[in-house]
Amino acid sequence: MSNEIQSRYHAVKTRIEKACEKAGRDPSGILLVAVSKTKPNEDILKLLESGHVHFGENRAKALEDRMESIQKDEIQWHFIGNLQTNKIKYMASRVNWIQSVHKKKALREIEKRAARENRTINTLIQVNISREDQKSGCEPDKLEGMLKYARDLKHTKVMGLMGMATFTDDPELVRPEFRHLSNLREQHKRLSIGAVDLKHLSMGMTNDLEVAIQEGSTMLRVGTAIFGERNY
Ligand SMILES: *Cc1c(COP(=O)(O)O)cnc(C)c1O
Repeated sequence: MSNEIQSRYHAVKTRIEKACEKAGRDPSGILLVAVSKTKPNEDILKLLESGHVHFGENRAKALEDRMESIQKDEIQWHFIGNLQTNKIKYMASRVNWIQSVHKKKALREIEKRAARENRTINTLIQVNISREDQKSGCEPDKLEGMLKYARDLKHTKVMGLMGMATFTDDPELVRPEFRHLSNLREQHKRLSIGAVDLKHLSMGMTNDLEVAIQEGSTMLRVGTAIFGERNY
């Protein structure tokens, strides 16, 4: 079982290297976040043994439980799911990255909770790039206001943008969405001042990581290809 995890992990690393080669990019510029969801702690510990340190969860309670039951200082924990402002207080003492910030109110709450813990939390602003109606992320025209607000924060850093593409089996269909996110970063880079540094683009998952790398992703969130199929 655990060997399977490690070989899947290495297969993903190989996919990333090949995609980078094709795109003329350096694989060291791509941060891989392993998304464990329903999988057991021992799978995470196996990857940690292989030297992998970035782990993500999409549910606040799941992240809280993980951080509580796996107390390893070397792990960088990412929250990547739908962010409810009232859940921030439960993760603030340990989470390193909150990738799914979509409103000022959430930034304000992260700042308050991180200050109380005397720590700094990295964030990404999630932007709605999908053609689906479901609301995930702020609308692109709200981005400028959020970045200007974030500049003066002391315990919160905005390190880039995150996007969820339309759910589809055909990765070519998501290319324009990834390109849109990449363009938004270019357009807003001049707002990288103070606590804002738009260096990251979090986009690309199991099915579309190659396309994401071609379109400039610096952070991949991969679940299935590392941990195996899920039941949901
Ligand atoms: C589950 C999930 C992923 C990983 O998806 P896979 O297709 O299993 O790689 C990435 N991002 C978010 C927000 C997720 O919820």
